[in-house]
Amino acid sequence: MEMKLTVLGNNGPYPTANGACSGYLIEHDDTKILLDCGNGVMSNLLNVCDIMKLDAIILTHLHPDHISDIFIMRYALQRKGIQIPLYAPSSPSDEYKRLEYKNVFDICEIYQDLKLTIGQLSITFREFKHVLRNYGICIETENKKFVYTGDMIYDENIIEFASNSDVLLIEAGVLHRDLKFNPPHLSAKQACEIGKKSKVKKLFLTHFNPEYTIDEYIKESINQFDGLLVLATIMKTYQI
Ligand SMILES: [Zn+2]
Ligand SMILES: [Zn+2]
Repeated sequence: MEMKLTVLGNNGPYPTANGACSGYLIEHDDTKILLDCGNGVMSNLLNVCDIMKLDAIILTHLHPDHISDIFIMRYALQRKGIQIPLYAPSSPSDEYKRLEYKNVFDICEIYQDLKLTIGQLSITFREFKHVLRNYGICIETENKKFVYTGDMIYDENIIEFASNSDVLLIEAGVLHRDLKFNPPHLSAKQACEIGKKSKVKKLFLTHFNPEYTIDEYIKESINQFDGLLVLATIMKTYQI
């Protein structure tokens, strides 16, 4: 059984017209996991998945462009009377507390050595530096490895964490020319370098900032990675 990735939102920190911020559906057999749930994600998710069928939601960090639709989805879940496991970092604690709502989520804290098994998927986490506490997510089956960074600044540890993955979904929140402003994000060029050093098979760039054009992203990343390079496209499903 193959793992599939559907991109529900690929912008940050705000969307383009008709766009959506971070949200990715991972499917394997009957298992469905939502990674991040930014603004616009729930509406897109409903095109491809009944939210009652979600086995878990995992939030990399608690910035609004990764969690806003959680605060909307809870109304739907409340009406349906079901509880979905929700994994998130517990910092900042006031944001973490805000996730609680009438028990619609079974909220569990993510920490560095946490290991989850959901369906046939093994899931591990690694903290990467960002403005807020952020965890990269590694999802493995018997023969496939998928890694998603969340948001992060450059950190050599990602190379080991993502090594030899079939797909590395990596944020490229800025273009290289803007690193001089010390943004809490990777540039597209850095993302490609990480892909290369980790020897990943397919590199998916995401978290596109609407301040740039997609052409600028292509220009910066072209020929920077030896394997298959993909700019994650909204509402597209990819085999991992
Ligand atoms: Zn973000
Ligand atoms: Zn962020």
